[in-house]
Amino acid sequence: MAYDWIFRDAVIHDGTGAPGVVGDVAVEGDRIAAVGSVIGTARHEVDAAGLALAPGFIDVHTHDDFAAVAYPDMAFKTLGGVTTCIVGNCGMGAAPFGAASVLARSFHPHATFPAWDGYRGYLARLDETPPAVNIAALIGHGTARMEVMRRKTAAPNASEMEAMKAIVREGLDAGAVGLSTGLIYEPGRHARTEELIELTSLLRGTGALYTTHMRNEGLGLLDSIEEAIRIGEAAGVGVQISHHKASGRDAWGLVGRSLDRIDAAQRAGLNVHADQYPYTAGSTVLSAVAEGGRLGGAGGGLGALSADDVVIASTANHPQWEGKSITALMAELDLDLGAALRRILGEEPGATVVLHTMNEDDVRAVMRHPSTMIGSDGLPTLEGKPHPRLYGTFARVLGHYARDLGVLSLPDAVYRMTGFSAAKFGLRERGVIAPGNFADLVVFDPARIIDRGTFEAPNQAPDGIHAVLVNGQAVALDGKPTDARPGRTLRRR
Ligand SMILES: [Zn+2]
Repeated sequence: MAYDWIFRDAVIHDGTGAPGVVGDVAVEGDRIAAVGSVIGTARHEVDAAGLALAPGFIDVHTHDDFAAVAYPDMAFKTLGGVTTCIVGNCGMGAAPFGAASVLARSFHPHATFPAWDGYRGYLARLDETPPAVNIAALIGHGTARMEVMRRKTAAPNASEMEAMKAIVREGLDAGAVGLSTGLIYEPGRHARTEELIELTSLLRGTGALYTTHMRNEGLGLLDSIEEAIRIGEAAGVGVQISHHKASGRDAWGLVGRSLDRIDAAQRAGLNVHADQYPYTAGSTVLSAVAEGGRLGGAGGGLGALSADDVVIASTANHPQWEGKSITALMAELDLDLGAALRRILGEEPGATVVLHTMNEDDVRAVMRHPSTMIGSDGLPTLEGKPHPRLYGTFARVLGHYARDLGVLSLPDAVYRMTGFSAAKFGLRERGVIAPGNFADLVVFDPARIIDRGTFEAPNQAPDGIHAVLVNGQAVALDGKPTDARPGRTLRRR
């Protein structure tokens, strides 16, 4: 038998959390053909002795909706072992195009995009011009609300609700895997719980999930978890808590109780889990952080922030501001806080920031908890100084947290970025190494894998990742992207 690939003598971490087993994996076309002791030859035989072989990493929390179009090589993902991205998180979806373009202008100020018609049009565009990774899409509640209600802060009237429902139904019909909310952002933060229950109820029985960037990750964390659980229970839909954390010094330690609440909701029968990026700093748009001339806007949803905690990450036209804290820019511009924020946002309305707001013990507590899977939340603003999670999330969990600190075992860490994630989001025949499944695979050196990006120099691929296959084709080899674009759109079935 002649296969396309055989990886020989690897330690196979199959994505189920089971201990690694030494063996071979053969690939034929886009599928895994055999696992174990493989007899035969291959066009590409790889001696993987001493290396780990895992399913390709599934990044359940991305904002790569437009990046997948603008940068189809997706090297910032593939070089870190990612083979599937779930886009459309935090209420920000790819359709309708007009409202979605707001996101594109913030993250990709110098790019232009051809308009697409709905989620069906977005996914069709990716089918025609595939990126290197697989893409599954969430419907963005904020995008739908912006399209229908613009800047109105009231509850929707009957016709506005119908118009938002039509957008959600279109996305579900197109194969979206869930509905996301961003309840600290404009305009999602104006939505009452009842509005979210009514829209989320459209997902009942479809397998699609309610995913949420909650209203408050600071002192209001527990109320926010309560709201997310209430929405899932009332709508009869599974829930994914996005980037589970306690943000702001005064909220540190609250994750112990939010994790307990997730456990209790699971015992009561709710399908609820969370994702996490492995850093004590977050990242978002400055406009969500600054409000009324102070930091920690949008009702304090980010917790207590100081001007030292907030660092400019990317801008359209002010690279000299990137990497500097608001404190540093106040001194440089000779302005007080309110004036500095008005000046920066006046010239750079889409500026993104890194926020140093979390506690290391909390990060480890969330990571250890069985409800947590891994998602980068990377902002694909490649020209600035994006949060290094964009490149390093998965290597950092495997190298820093699993190997060096022992927070997780290696098979458990792999599970939380592969089999667990595929099961939660309904990605069939992916996330587990088994004959017949799609050949999304990563070969890495468990002794060497590590993230390299820093906040000062974030645009660096991790070390220790040897080969990355998507649907049986190599998209990264020895730290270099290939020309292959084998990614597929993954539709809910
Ligand atoms: Zn978010």
